[in-house]
Amino acid sequence: MADQTYDYDVLVIGAGPGGYVAAIRAAQLGLKTACAESRETLGGTCLNVGCIPSKAMLHASEYFDAAANGTMASMGIDVTPKLNLPKMHEQRLDAVGGLTKGIEFLFKKNKVDWKKGRASFVDAHTLKVGDETVTARNVIIATGSSVTPLPGVEVDNDQQVVVDSTGALELAKVPRTMVVIGGGVIGLELGSVWRRLGAEVTVVEFLDQLLPGMDMEIRKEAAKIFKKQGMELKLSTKVTGCTVKGKKATLTVEPAAGGEAETMQADCVLVSIGRRPNTDGLGLENIGLELNQRGQIETDHDFRTKVEGVWAVGDVIPGPMLAHKAEDEGIACAENIAGHTGIVNHDVIPGVVYTWPEIAGVGLTEDEAKTKTSGAVKVGKFPMMANSRAKTNHEPDGFVKIISEADSDRVLGVWCIAVPAGTMIAEAALAMEFGATSEDIAYTCHAHPTHSEAMKEAAMAVQGKPIHM
Ligand code: FAD
Ligand code: NAD
Repeated sequence: MADQTYDYDVLVIGAGPGGYVAAIRAAQLGLKTACAESRETLGGTCLNVGCIPSKAMLHASEYFDAAANGTMASMGIDVTPKLNLPKMHEQRLDAVGGLTKGIEFLFKKNKVDWKKGRASFVDAHTLKVGDETVTARNVIIATGSSVTPLPGVEVDNDQQVVVDSTGALELAKVPRTMVVIGGGVIGLELGSVWRRLGAEVTVVEFLDQLLPGMDMEIRKEAAKIFKKQGMELKLSTKVTGCTVKGKKATLTVEPAAGGEAETMQADCVLVSIGRRPNTDGLGLENIGLELNQRGQIETDHDFRTKVEGVWAVGDVIPGPMLAHKAEDEGIACAENIAGHTGIVNHDVIPGVVYTWPEIAGVGLTEDEAKTKTSGAVKVGKFPMMANSRAKTNHEPDGFVKIISEADSDRVLGVWCIAVPAGTMIAEAALAMEFGATSEDIAYTCHAHPTHSEAMKEAAMAVQGKPIHM
């Protein structure tokens, strides 16, 4: 479908999971494609400073923790771990380097041109990328998101005292004390990394529970587990200011509902109160594209914006800010541009917090399901303590919870705290995508001994008949 009028059939802005995947799919479908990226490497937030480096630190620190906290000793392995933090950082950078280079290879293989530089609209089909002018019949905005700043708390990643997630991935030494502002996904993942490596971690959360958006029982259980692991939780508390003197930060905090202020000192403060869409400098005013109240670009179900020929995917549009959601939207958007039917089912996007144990969910929370069905839901739960594999592996914490519609038994939501919850939740997503009932899951043969048997037992519990409980 080479188009003589424009340089490209498709120009994607941003090479994160939304953008790079859209570019590769567009090229696979025969469209002449370029991707503008201003970073030195491809892969966006996810590969450079997000999913991948955080998982590299989580994985390595899990081993350290297992050696240090007695888990290994309880299995007959007596070791005294010695932290080599530079080496841990080196393996993180190796993972990032390998994967970002991998995207470069995939671009070459699929003949996607990488336009290095910041892109900005001149008109809907003409963009400046650095000094170059590039035209395209279709433009996909996949510019992602960046850290939401907290007024009164200035981040300086170079100083390593008040940091955001990028700074918290790179600390050169383990802080003695760390305050995490925001008990969401980033705070709990990166807070876990440094707690495991020896920091005393306090999480300050504005709401009365951690992990907004997740099922309430899961949120409460998660708080219990993190406390047991030694994290201090200050819920219903807000940070109102921060001063830094030398290598120490002093925070002022007060009850979220108002009340007496107190101060807290820390060697390191992590600001993780959310992320906001990247739209500055894109020249959206030149194409008459307005943002919604949350600063996001709105699209229809096909990922078309209000401007003809301009599409958008990923963190810059509404929905959970997740790499796999961005990827699926990138694929669907490219398919729609090529004249195919690209669909993303936004009701079935799993979410995973990669702590120990992992915390995962897909679909509706119990409260949401009750609202949707006027209370007509059935709930089945199964504790990991009663799962033979989890018990054998010394991993007793957590449970699986399945919520189904009372009449039809159709599964509406699945929530899970278990060491491999992130892997287990894929089964639930697949079941929901196929419109499964809890009975379908209960009568599916699950291998023994696996953590996934807890999913089957939770489904049996929806009918009130689990075997191992
Ligand atoms: P991004 O990945 O943000 O990519 C956008 C790209 O666009 C960037 O590279 C940026 O440089 C470029 N760009 C922006 N403006 C322009 C412009 N004008 N011109 C040229 N280029 C531009 N999600 C998960 O699903 N699982 C996880 O485990 C996970 N862990 C995370 C851990 C951390 C610490 C963080 C910060 C995020 C994590 N996320 C995770 C979220 C995930 O990284 C994002 O949801 C995902 O990267 C969004 O993809 P995207 O393509 O929309 O945008
Ligand atoms: P988040 O929205 O998950 O959590 C932010 C938390 O900060 C919330 O609990 C919120 O109530 C709290 N908060 C807000 N203002 C506050 C204040 N002034 N004082 C105290 N608490 C305050 O955001 P995040 O953890 O920064 O993560 C950003 C995004 O990145 C998320 O949308 C997440 O989806 C994505 N992410 C995903 C993963 C994953 O999938 N494993 C990992 C990291 C990040």
